[in-house]
Amino acid sequence: MTNEDDVWNDLAGIPADPPETRNKCQQCKRPVSVCWCPGLPKQRLNPSSRIIILQHPAEAKRCLRTAPMLALALESGKCLTFRGKKFPLPKHEGLAEILNDKNTILLYPSPDAIALDTLDPVGTNGQNPYNLVLLDGTWPQAKAIYHSNPALYSPRACKLIGVPASEYVIRTQPTDGCLSTLETGASALSILEGDPELREKMLGPLHYLCRQVHFSEALVVDIAFIF
Ligand SMILES: [Zn+2]
Repeated sequence: MTNEDDVWNDLAGIPADPPETRNKCQQCKRPVSVCWCPGLPKQRLNPSSRIIILQHPAEAKRCLRTAPMLALALESGKCLTFRGKKFPLPKHEGLAEILNDKNTILLYPSPDAIALDTLDPVGTNGQNPYNLVLLDGTWPQAKAIYHSNPALYSPRACKLIGVPASEYVIRTQPTDGCLSTLETGASALSILEGDPELREKMLGPLHYLCRQVHFSEALVVDIAFIF
């Protein structure tokens, strides 16, 4: 197998060689040939707000996911991941409190969603740090999670407006206005914190990977958000 085939198989999520025979990065758990850790911020970022990822179980099995890039870019405790289709469950410790917190917002384009950039950034008008909830999965999976979990109707729903479509498009069907989980989280957090530089720092691993992988095809990533 050529190196390029190897990379492609990983990106496409096709089962390749047994994992134990491949050389894996200890941090991102990916084969070293497609490790993106050198693109991470030199020091983990410590924004005042937190990101909470509600991850569809099928999402965790895919090879190229961008949610771990969020988790590793931020200080521990600033990115929490809860896995499941139903939320919250007793095993999702702390999630019920988060969903009932008035500083929690859900990024989801429901009909009553308001533009994220109309919210006060942290520190303006006494705004406390936010809990930013993201649904991580394909778009149909995210929709299913939203509609089968009334607890997700409690937080304010917000949508990203005026954010460019992904630079890294996209697996499944081509769709306009898609963002990866990383781009969604980085863009939203940057707006909520009032810190434009945060987004670029957080996108480092995706930039790095794109510089390493020279496909004529667009890079294949997860879709977290459609607007
Ligand atoms: Zn790595």
